[in-house]
Amino acid sequence: MTATRKPNLAGLSLAKLRALFAEAGEKPFRAEQILKWIHQRGVLDIDLMTDISKDLREKLKLSTEISLPKILEDYESEDGSHKWIVEVASGSRVEMVFIPESGRGTLCISSQAGCSLDCSFCATGKQGFNSNLTVAEIVGQLWWANSQLGGFHGKTERPVSNVVMMGMGEPLLNFDNVMDALSIMMDDCAYGLSKRKVTISTSGVVPAIDRLKDFTDASLAISLHAPNDELRSKIMPINNKYPIKELLRSVQSYMDSLPDKRVPVIEYTLIAGVNDHRQHARDLAVLLEQLPCKINLIPFNPFSLSDYRRPSSSSISNFRQILQKAGYTVTVRTTRADDIGAACGQLVGDVDDQTRRSDRHKRRHAQSESARKDGVKVFDSTDNLAVAADRL
Ligand code: SAH
Ligand code: SF4
Repeated sequence: MTATRKPNLAGLSLAKLRALFAEAGEKPFRAEQILKWIHQRGVLDIDLMTDISKDLREKLKLSTEISLPKILEDYESEDGSHKWIVEVASGSRVEMVFIPESGRGTLCISSQAGCSLDCSFCATGKQGFNSNLTVAEIVGQLWWANSQLGGFHGKTERPVSNVVMMGMGEPLLNFDNVMDALSIMMDDCAYGLSKRKVTISTSGVVPAIDRLKDFTDASLAISLHAPNDELRSKIMPINNKYPIKELLRSVQSYMDSLPDKRVPVIEYTLIAGVNDHRQHARDLAVLLEQLPCKINLIPFNPFSLSDYRRPSSSSISNFRQILQKAGYTVTVRTTRADDIGAACGQLVGDVDDQTRRSDRHKRRHAQSESARKDGVKVFDSTDNLAVAADRL
């Protein structure tokens, strides 16, 4: 896809399409027509948009374009999940994953190529940041999933009922584009997804969460992963900037702004020996006392650049029970599509490492290994004094 100044109709929200038509002296309802053609019927050829006059179609062909990201590969898992490799304009590749379950189909969408936030347990973070996806590249993933899964035939229910912004990248660091993409996903003239079924997952970009209520009423998931600042800062550098107290305050204020009763999901990736101790569960239960929420435990998914391990089923189950006994609704995310490398945090494929962060990571690992052999105590992100103290 080449850079162009022509507006891309596939990436314009209803408000932006209306503004475009108003500027051209056209009726505002043209905006609804375009949204329906592209996002309800899956039509990308302006000539086929037959309820639009021939004159206007010719004008649109000259002054606008309709372009979507490219699908490079489609992997289908034994369990019916799909992983698609998508090429975006910057030349990077991102991934999206479709997970069918009884009664619903969830699409996990990417918002950035790579990620700058460098969480120690995440394969995307190891790549560094490459580019922000455009609106058409974000909503285009939903377009493609519908196109590939027969969602534009209009006969049956659409295969994608839920969208989670849990693919590659930090959605709130690509704020404007993600907000417009969400508005298209939730527009009745487009995909018509309910606000309860579209979820933004964030590592906790507090100023962006504070702005969220002015742009969307989508559901929220927070990647917490630790019950205290000391440990969270070790595994999630963003915590140094926006510590837990500020984060929970801003989440509560977003939830309070919603007119319906909804609670955030607290995501907690369980990493063996790092944040999976019983005391961590007890501390988490106390930490979240004031915040009505659901907790989603995600057993760590291993990948080649990480030394972290997934906890045993019994420690996952102990962790869960402590939280349940404290009164929380807790789910454990089951690993799907392992055979196609589509589990949480594994979304990296053979995407280029733009910043050489993975080389730096390997070097750091080699240094700490040699220090270990020399009998030197090395503190790295797996050290957690609270756990050590509790085990004594
Ligand atoms: N940047 C956003 C959304 C993408 S990550 C965020 O951090 O929330 C989606 C979820 O997968 C997050 O909760 C993230 O912490 C989790 N995750 C990342 N790497 C993982 C891994 N290796 N195993 C299990 N979960 C992981
Ligand atoms: Fe970025 Fe989310 Fe991965 Fe952290 S977990 S590096 S915020 S994609």
